[in-house]
Amino acid sequence: MEASLVFRLHERGPEVVREVLLERGWEEYDEEEREEEDWNLYWRGSAFRNSEYLNLMPWQRLNHHPKTVGITRKDCLARNLRRMRTTFGSSLYDFSPTAFILPNDYTRFLSEYNKVTRGPSAYWICKPVDLSRGRGIFIFEDMRELVYDCPVIVQRYISNPLLISGYKFDLRIYVCVKNFHPLTVYIHQEGLVRFATEKYNLSSLHNLFAHLTNTSINKFSPFYKSEKERVGRGCKWTMSKFRHFLQSQDINELLLWQRINNIVTLTLLTIAPTVPSCPNCVELLGFDILIDAEFKPWLLEVNDSPALTLDCQADITVKRGLIGDLIDLMNYTLTDSLRERAFQRQGYNKPCIHAQHASPVSIPVLKETKYQKRRNQSLQTLPKIKTHHHPEQINQRQHAFAAVYQRHLPPVHLNKKYASKVVAANKSDTDDRTLNLILGPQSRTDVSVVNRQTWPDRAPWLTDNRSLRVSEVTNYDDTETEAEAHVSFSLAEIPHRGLGFRREKLPDIYSGIRRVRKERTAALNRQHVPPLRVGDFIRTFPFNAATLKASQHTLDVKKVIHELHKLTAQLASRKKLKRREEEEEERDGEEDFDSLLWGPKDPPLLGHCVKPF
Ligand code: ADP
Repeated sequence: MEASLVFRLHERGPEVVREVLLERGWEEYDEEEREEEDWNLYWRGSAFRNSEYLNLMPWQRLNHHPKTVGITRKDCLARNLRRMRTTFGSSLYDFSPTAFILPNDYTRFLSEYNKVTRGPSAYWICKPVDLSRGRGIFIFEDMRELVYDCPVIVQRYISNPLLISGYKFDLRIYVCVKNFHPLTVYIHQEGLVRFATEKYNLSSLHNLFAHLTNTSINKFSPFYKSEKERVGRGCKWTMSKFRHFLQSQDINELLLWQRINNIVTLTLLTIAPTVPSCPNCVELLGFDILIDAEFKPWLLEVNDSPALTLDCQADITVKRGLIGDLIDLMNYTLTDSLRERAFQRQGYNKPCIHAQHASPVSIPVLKETKYQKRRNQSLQTLPKIKTHHHPEQINQRQHAFAAVYQRHLPPVHLNKKYASKVVAANKSDTDDRTLNLILGPQSRTDVSVVNRQTWPDRAPWLTDNRSLRVSEVTNYDDTETEAEAHVSFSLAEIPHRGLGFRREKLPDIYSGIRRVRKERTAALNRQHVPPLRVGDFIRTFPFNAATLKASQHTLDVKKVIHELHKLTAQLASRKKLKRREEEEEERDGEEDFDSLLWGPKDPPLLGHCVKPF
């Protein structure tokens, strides 16, 4: 009784999500055909309503976390970064151009304007706070040109961008926040480089084809289709192509990537403590980064629904891979017997574990759903739907649900009081499991196993029953069980690209560090280390044992910032990348936490980059 996975797309889009999921055997939700809760993934280009989070079923996931607007709206981002600058110092939070939210900050802007106009030319860019795709943006030098009829931000215009053959460009970096509690962040290795289509020229500030890099603007340029020096046709490169460009320049590439990495982490830290816990959600964010002529990366904005339209070959390459890896990161299995069983056995029509359900009286009234009616007609063996329960029975049911769903996905705001009751009822459970129940699922599932299931053609060697151990839709536990370690070990020598399991994933040059140091690994496993890589998603947070610890309970922002600082300083001072397998053996427990440096083509281990030679 296993049901296909079902996805739901809001307003029929985006097409690439549909294509990727259908290719993987998912079915598309049809409201005429299916019950309201009969889906696994709901994808929307806009925010979900509160009620949609509150009514989530354990098998359902959403592609947005609640309350991320603090970084995805231009004015909120500016305000939050200003707050962090005040708290943690402007030298750390110096990666976004000075911004003013108008009309509120008008006087402050005026005083800054007067100050800078006394020096060399200064340029400003004005952007409506809640528009995207370059709409309503203009650049100005003279205050008299600043005219607006809606809330805007005015930002210092980065007037010395790094140019490629005279063309301005910015980077679209794809970031997946897998979890805010504990903070778990991945950055995709592929991304897009978006070019302006006319040569950069400060004497033509009104020429948007020279100053803005949005595709939505540049595809209307007369030069969009023409062959442009080095840039080529269209207005996009893949990040891989950009890496080739970097290699042809004398750039400390690692430091550039790490700075971008820092921007992502520092930006997420501004909201991470205030985003409610919702383990059923993922967030795919698009960070827009501009690099200036000094190779300093600047954050321009963060998009909560980065465009997934396929305009050109670079889009197809990058976005299809991105969505595929994102689905892998969510760690679905091929079918969803959890959803199916829940429908068949319980017949509930409300969330099964939820804050409201702490007391028996709030258990939803069971009713026969459309879905069950259909099933009942075809499946004679289904249990009869009950409409009345004694409180003790309800309690037992709650506990039974909880026992099952500790291993699966609890909905948002899982009631702590209820969680503690459940834990008391299962006295043998460890503290870890209590935490799991509150913070999220930690079923003992290895992502590499899940990946081999969800994408068999990536792992044709694993078609036997071993994969059937993972039979539910689970949020993976990033650690290995003994049994999984055994399976993984037997697969360790099979060349494989793109999975999250550490021993198989590391490039061959790291074979020397594959030796299992059991005690240390066990210590880390207790803290649920997320896989360091899933497809082309590289885990960038937590990046060492200290940040893992600092994010396990209440996020210790100060500690995280301290660690980031330390890492960047070490990267900045290193001379060259060299393998040090001998030293690896001697590393202490803290360094035993493997992370990859996001950015370079074959991402090296962070430990290799920062060791003094
Ligand atoms: P939108 O959400 O409308 O795309 P962005 O903030 O991303 O708004 O700005 C659009 C484009 O304008 C960017 O892709 C970039 O090319 C340019 N731009 C935005 N802000 C700046 C800035 N401060 N300095 C230089 N260029 C900028």
